[in-house]
Amino acid sequence: MPIIERHVRGAMPARAHAEAPRWPHGQRSCVALAFDLDGPTGDAMLDGSIWRNPAYFTLGSYGPWRALRRLLDMLCERSVPATFFVPAWVVEHWPRQCAAIIEGGHEIAYHGYRHEAFWTLDRDGQRAVMERSAQVFERHLGMRPVGFRTPSGDWGPDTLRVLAEAGVRYSSSMRGDDRPYLVHAEGIAEPMVEIPGRWELDDYASLAYHRNPDFPASLDRIASYDTTLDNWRREFDGSHRDGLCLTTLFHPKVSGKPGRIPLLERLIDHMREQDGVWFAACRDVAQWWRDTYAAGASEDVPQDLRR
Ligand SMILES: [Zn+2]
Repeated sequence: MPIIERHVRGAMPARAHAEAPRWPHGQRSCVALAFDLDGPTGDAMLDGSIWRNPAYFTLGSYGPWRALRRLLDMLCERSVPATFFVPAWVVEHWPRQCAAIIEGGHEIAYHGYRHEAFWTLDRDGQRAVMERSAQVFERHLGMRPVGFRTPSGDWGPDTLRVLAEAGVRYSSSMRGDDRPYLVHAEGIAEPMVEIPGRWELDDYASLAYHRNPDFPASLDRIASYDTTLDNWRREFDGSHRDGLCLTTLFHPKVSGKPGRIPLLERLIDHMREQDGVWFAACRDVAQWWRDTYAAGASEDVPQDLRR
C-alpha cells in the first residue's frame, strides 16, 4: 500500500526544522481549518439503530441544524476560510445549510455517504459510495468536491484508486506527518496530496460526551475548557514555529455550542495575532503543494527539502 511504503522506505530526515516547507508569499506556516459535519451519520445509522434512538439522532443533527450557522458566523467575522467534510446524507437532508457553507466562501468535500469506514468496503462498495455522493453534491449544490476525508476508519487497498477515479485530488485522512505529502499509486498519473491531521486537534478527544450509548468509549468526563484551549494553542505554536501545516478535526456538533464557540474564537484570534500564517482551505493547500512540489519530483519528499 503506497502510504505504508512511504513511511517505511523514506530516509531519516536530517533536522526537522531544516525541512520547513515553502508557503505562498513567504508566509511562515499554514493553517487549514477543517470541520467534519457528520450530523447523525455514522455507525448507528449504518446499523439502523439510530432510528430507535431519537435522542441520539438529535445529538448529531444539532451540527447542521444549529451549530453550523454559529460557526459560519464566527468564521465570517474573522475572514478565515475553512473546509467542511460532509457525508452526502447530510447534504441531502440539510441542503440549505450546506449551501450556506459555499456561500460563505468555504470548501465542501467528501466524507462518505452515511459515514462509511472505507476499509470495510470492497472496491465496488467504495465506488458506489463515491458515485452516490457525487450525485448528491451535484443535485443539491451544483458542484463536485475535490477533497476527501476518511470517515471513522482507514483506507482499504483500493481506496486511492477509487478516489482518483472519482476525481478526488487530495485527502486529509492520514497521520504520518505534519506537512502535506504526495502519495503515488501504480497506474495513476497524478499523485494524491495528503494533508494529515492529528488526534490532538480532534475536539472529540476532549469535548465529546454522550451517555447511553456511552460514546466515545472510555471518555466519561468533559475536559476543562481552559486546558483544551491551551492544548490547541500549543499545537498551533509548535506548528507555526517550525513552519508546518496544521489542520483540525473539529465537529460542529461538538465545538459549535454556545459555551464552546469562544474556544475556537480565541484559538483563531491567537493564530491571527502571529505574523506569517497562511489560512487556506484544504483544496488550496493541496493545489499549492502540487504546483510547488509535484512537478519533476519522482518521490513524495520534495527534492529541495532533502538534506
Ligand atoms: Zn466524520
